[in-house]
Amino acid sequence: MSERDTIARRMPSQVTVFEVGPRDGLQNEATPIPTGMKVAFVKTLSDAGLTWIETTSFVNPKAVPQLADAGEVMAGIERPPGVRYPVLVPNERGMQRALESGVDAIAVFTAASEQFSQANVRATIDETFERFAPVIGLAKQNNVWTRGYVSMAFHCPYEGPIAPEKAIDVAQSLFDLGIDEVAIADTVGRATPLDVSRFLDLAVESLSVDRLAFHLHDTNGLALSNVMLALEAGITVIDGAAGGLGGCPFAPGAPGNLATEKLVMLLDGLGIKTGVDGAAVEKAGQEVRKFLNRAR
Ligand code: MG
Repeated sequence: MSERDTIARRMPSQVTVFEVGPRDGLQNEATPIPTGMKVAFVKTLSDAGLTWIETTSFVNPKAVPQLADAGEVMAGIERPPGVRYPVLVPNERGMQRALESGVDAIAVFTAASEQFSQANVRATIDETFERFAPVIGLAKQNNVWTRGYVSMAFHCPYEGPIAPEKAIDVAQSLFDLGIDEVAIADTVGRATPLDVSRFLDLAVESLSVDRLAFHLHDTNGLALSNVMLALEAGITVIDGAAGGLGGCPFAPGAPGNLATEKLVMLLDGLGIKTGVDGAAVEKAGQEVRKFLNRAR
């Protein structure tokens, strides 16, 4: 972008694309995906220039059978310098398994909706914090980078619209625990640009925006419009899933996570540097979709 472009003054010059396809994109898929295919998927994504790839999840294998091979996947991937492979960790036990696999970046998750938290992890929001306080402690001791997700930050299938103050509050509590990055998630993909603007107006006043990420689902086709607003507010980490993998369990048939290739196309189109080859990411995502028999 040239300095004379009005848009250049409103947008970051560089954005980190945080890939969540191998974890968020696959976790709800019933068809078992062979470990070797997951490892190959992760490699294709790093070859495409992605430097943050959320690779798997050390949750209870009974709860998420698709990711029961978390340890094998972590042992199977190459870890070239400059690429980080965060994993999702629900509790101390999962953190112990993750550390045994030599992870150097983890993510924990809570929600801005009390009812969703109860339904998803059978814990109040406060209880989720009690659960992962020791996880973060272990992370700090082991020099592990940490991310915290605020699920249902805008809209909840049980509670309806979520007050931005509530999402801000939960995000701040995550920062207070010492978490490095907080991802604000529109898990159900129902945030409108107005919802996002209201959140961002408060966030720029009260949170470290340079440590926030946005995690959007494209249920209603508004994810990219919402990304534009996040960029204008100074957010420089945006999540995507190759091929738009990962449908929303609350919106059957709807598109899943924002497709990384669409995100890259937007960022390319704005002249924002990502270092990511969108076409290569799309191809990687389509191969997995083909295996899962999920045409798009
Ligand atoms: Mg997601």
